[in-house]
Amino acid sequence: MNKEKAQKLTESYPMLFRKHNGEVCSLDETFGFECGSGWYDLINELCAEISEIVQSSEMQLWPNVVQVKEKFGGLRFYIHTSDFTNAMVTEADKLASDAMIEKIYQSISKAESKSLVTCEECGLPGKLYQASWVHVKCKTCEAIYQQKDILK
Ligand SMILES: [Zn+2]
Repeated sequence: MNKEKAQKLTESYPMLFRKHNGEVCSLDETFGFECGSGWYDLINELCAEISEIVQSSEMQLWPNVVQVKEKFGGLRFYIHTSDFTNAMVTEADKLASDAMIEKIYQSISKAESKSLVTCEECGLPGKLYQASWVHVKCKTCEAIYQQKDILK
């Protein structure tokens, strides 16, 4: 993903992209977003959804996004919820936290499914191409990719 878009994401969701010491994570220090810019909207929507889930839950515990990447053609969005355990005092806390985590994972898997029909290059509707490298592209981006491949 290009730097400008990546930065926009980390700045829009400082709680999700914070480091463990509370600072906003710098893309130079982490892996950044290891996927194409076409998935920007998808990731942006997912982050907004997660923020809403956290804000509407009783616990208000923020997961940490640790890695965002493309794997086998689809989006992978990894979070940490390890800080949550310290905040859970009662059984009700644990139930509330479990319910929140489940909702978050539902959102993540929805976004991951969506990525399989979203061009990783430009964000238009696309499909999964099983070439030497499995990827999701729209017709136009795939044609460009094929052409480059021939020229190689
Ligand atoms: Zn495309």
